[in-house]
Amino acid sequence: MKKVFYLDSGETIELGDSDFRFASEVRQRSGTDLNTCYHCWCCAGGCPFADAMDYTPNGVIRLVQLGLKKKALECSTIWLCVGCHTCSTVCPMGIDMSAIMDTLRQMALEEGASVAEPDILNFHKEVLNSIEHYGRTHKLEIMLRYKIRTRDWFSDMDVGIKMLAKRKLDLMPSKVNDIEEIRKIFL
Ligand code: SF4
Ligand code: SF4
Repeated sequence: MKKVFYLDSGETIELGDSDFRFASEVRQRSGTDLNTCYHCWCCAGGCPFADAMDYTPNGVIRLVQLGLKKKALECSTIWLCVGCHTCSTVCPMGIDMSAIMDTLRQMALEEGASVAEPDILNFHKEVLNSIEHYGRTHKLEIMLRYKIRTRDWFSDMDVGIKMLAKRKLDLMPSKVNDIEEIRKIFL
């Protein structure tokens, strides 16, 4: 069986299980030609969350290029990416990394892949719930619903109290005027 040495993490990867349609699907769904990535590492150097990720952003692109679907859909990086676009602004090829990560998250959910960061998925769901209900985020409700899901009540309570004291958390939600237009996005 053919093996490759994976430069990012040092893993040795067997290509026997590669799904080479995977890269085309990600390219098509994200609208980003990830084959133009030549692994200059500029994105990894600028990503504020790279230290917490199991693969660097371009490492995830490498997994996709190699057709390693399971690894790409089950890595923590796709859930840790916050879509800040720092990487895209420095990428010499103009690769839209956020769109790629978004696509991979969607595919992971569709395919029932094991989610590496379930708490982040819970938070993600509550943000979407809030947008569907109000057309914008109501942070206090998001936090409360997230806490109910995770049953982790006290780990970051100090931050919540500080935010309340600085009036960064509105007690009551506010709704956009044309909420039906927003809800159409979720149909
Ligand atoms: S900056 Fe762009 S070309 Fe360079 S490794 Fe990252 S995605 Fe690839
Ligand atoms: S968009 Fe994602 S991968 Fe790119 S710099 Fe921000 S967090 Fe990192």
